[in-house]
Amino acid sequence: MQILDGKALSDKIKNRIKEETKKLKEKGIVPGLAVILVGDDPASHTYVRMKEKACETTGIYSIVHKMPSDISEEKILETIRMINNNPNIDGILVQLPLPPQIDTQKVLETIVPEKDVDGFHPFNVGKLVLGLDGFVPCTPLGVMRLLEEYEIDPKGLDVCVVGASNIVGKPMLNLLLNAFATVDICHIFTKDLAFHTKRADMVIVGVGKPNLITADMVKEGAIVIDIGINRLEDGRLVGDVDFENVAPKTSYITPVPGGVGPMTIAMLLENTLKAAKRRLK
Ligand code: NAD
Repeated sequence: MQILDGKALSDKIKNRIKEETKKLKEKGIVPGLAVILVGDDPASHTYVRMKEKACETTGIYSIVHKMPSDISEEKILETIRMINNNPNIDGILVQLPLPPQIDTQKVLETIVPEKDVDGFHPFNVGKLVLGLDGFVPCTPLGVMRLLEEYEIDPKGLDVCVVGASNIVGKPMLNLLLNAFATVDICHIFTKDLAFHTKRADMVIVGVGKPNLITADMVKEGAIVIDIGINRLEDGRLVGDVDFENVAPKTSYITPVPGGVGPMTIAMLLENTLKAAKRRLK
């Protein structure tokens, strides 16, 4: 069993981004990321702080627009339109979830696709489905990069994706399909989850339920990727996989923390750099 070390790879990627940012600066371009943070959800604040810090260490300019939870939808849309027109900002990220009075889809669709570094705009979703170059959501993109680093080619593999959200499962499905894997996608209404996971060469889970994937649900030698992040009552951070019992059965497995999480942030930086490079054209 080998651990897929997302922390080490993300550090490597960040070092490369730092170098590239330096070169862009010599050409007068400072990559810029704007984050919209609504309300006071502690997890969202933590994620945004981590993203700010990652920008700082790689030389990317970042600005956070903090807004109260009772903000109107129009005010958010107005802010996005303003940033859309700001030539110094290359990437726009709206930290989710948004409060219930806000139409999340409307907000995401207001971001111009060229600055949609989270890859949630329907234009970029369409590009991903068609296998065209665009912005790909950071978490599934991070999984693909981690597999690539360890020379794990999904081509021809039977992969079971557990979780089918717009930000994790669905883009994961499309990336795997574009890489010629045979993909099964499961969700809350899947009748027999173990039936699907047990026959997979690779199980990728992003649900948000500790110990959802147990040792009996995974075949011997499988690759297991855990996207889930769960905070237990004792303060520990765990994924969706019963790591202790599943790991010995696998060929490769990601830990939580230190697996997919750091890759997500690295891909956000990479997408921002990609957006900034447009200014060269
Ligand atoms: P979500 O709630 O939007 O979606 C959860 C998905 O899991 C849904 O498709 C649902 O149908 C499915 N599901 C729920 N219970 C299930 C069950 N018992 N069996 C099978 N499927 C089930 O959540 P999300 O935003 O996609 O996030 C999922 C998890 O991934 C969370 O733990 C989140 O914290 C984590 N996450 C991690 C990163 C990262 O950087 N590592 C990034 C984003 C999300």
